[in-house]
Amino acid sequence: MTTSARPQAMASQEVSLLGRFTPQRAMVLEALIEAAEAEGFVSARSLHARLRSAGSTVGLSTVYRTLSALAEAGRADIVRDMQGERLFRYRPGSDHRHYLICTECGASVTLDSAAVEEWAAGIARTSGFTAVRHTVELTGICPDCGTSAGGSPRG
Ligand SMILES: [Zn+2]
Ligand SMILES: [Zn+2]
Repeated sequence: MTTSARPQAMASQEVSLLGRFTPQRAMVLEALIEAAEAEGFVSARSLHARLRSAGSTVGLSTVYRTLSALAEAGRADIVRDMQGERLFRYRPGSDHRHYLICTECGASVTLDSAAVEEWAAGIARTSGFTAVRHTVELTGICPDCGTSAGGSPRG
């Protein structure tokens, strides 16, 4: 993957989607963009910890609010982990994506979801509903995790 755009430049551009620009929001967005490249989906708490260890004083509630606003604006995808906690991943374009997530290690794979999109668009056309949205989450155990001891969690 070649991502030549700097997270900082992208963050200051896209934070305007959230309405009011604040340095803290830009920081959260920047961290989310970096996290998306490094580890995929992250929880608000781990993003918060990442920001704190980088010297930021941003509060956890600001991180939560910013991530939720990003998801609302269509710039973040959300999945839930096994405990029901929401995990976020930066979405570079306006097209949303669907992922297959490993429940053991959190690895994520982007799916070819054309069939889902066509199906959803068809429902939207024929139902008379407007602003039809969908959420599709696939979870499983990735090859790396599945090969060790029949899928039992690694310690
Ligand atoms: Zn795995
Ligand atoms: Zn979709």
